[in-house]
Amino acid sequence: MIDVIDLKKNYGKLEVLKGISTTIKKGEKIAIIGPSGSGKSTFLRCLNCMEDPTSGAIIFDGVNIADRKVNINIHRRHMGMVFQQFNLFNNKTVIDNIMLAPVYLHTQDLRMKKLKNFFIRIRNIFTNNKKTYYEIDTTGAKIKAEAKENALRLLRRIGLEDKADAYPSTLSGGQKQRIAIIRALAMNPKVMLFDEPTSALDPEMVGEVLDLIKQLVDEGMTMVIVTHEMGFAKEVATRVLFMDEGKIREENTPEGIFSHPQDPRTKEFLSKVL
Ligand code: ADP
Ligand code: MG
Repeated sequence: MIDVIDLKKNYGKLEVLKGISTTIKKGEKIAIIGPSGSGKSTFLRCLNCMEDPTSGAIIFDGVNIADRKVNINIHRRHMGMVFQQFNLFNNKTVIDNIMLAPVYLHTQDLRMKKLKNFFIRIRNIFTNNKKTYYEIDTTGAKIKAEAKENALRLLRRIGLEDKADAYPSTLSGGQKQRIAIIRALAMNPKVMLFDEPTSALDPEMVGEVLDLIKQLVDEGMTMVIVTHEMGFAKEVATRVLFMDEGKIREENTPEGIFSHPQDPRTKEFLSKVL
């Protein structure tokens, strides 16, 4: 699904990613572990096109999304991203948070269809052709209604339907993060990227967020998750990448990484966190 080839990222003189290569197959659950500052977040942000890589390629669905000439918005919609700090819009209600991206996306699609209709109309004038136009929902009401229905369905799924009209500031951290997760799901992503989704939570809320992520695992979602929850990584990951100083130092099955680490840096890191 995603092929990462010799990915490098510099911030000025600072080399943050020093040549990352890996392949993420459909249905895989990749856990990324490693010390703070090793480039884990930068790697995820490059995958999601939030950062321009300095060099290298990221082939997603056959297209190099690291190429600046590519329309990344088309590809980004297939990747859901969840951050440590939730990143909900605090001035919008829960349901508006969830509906925002799908409505925006479908409104853009609608604009495209209107434009196409315009050209069809002109062509019809010249060719006396009666080719049918695209069906257009001119008010966008249908788009909003569908997005709302989907948002409510997702809220029901996590038992927070009654919070639809609440503002994020009134929610617990665990609730905010679960809403951030379903907000990403509302776009029907092909892959979910999580950057330390439980690191900002009070300990008693970690479980509810991990449980939701586990549900996605069971549904076969492809995911990449940066985490300090080693127990969770062991339990759900199909593969663990250990990153250190901008490189993947070691990658293996959870059993391989946690029970038989090969690289001295992996051993040292694990001895501190396990
Ligand atoms: P991790 O997520 O593994 O803790 P990061 O990817 O956040 O690591 O950061 C890796 C390195 O890149 C750090 O030294 C950090 O200071 C630096 N860095 C990250 N983002 C930026 C940025 N936008 N500008 C400059 N330096 C950055
Ligand atoms: Mg980070």
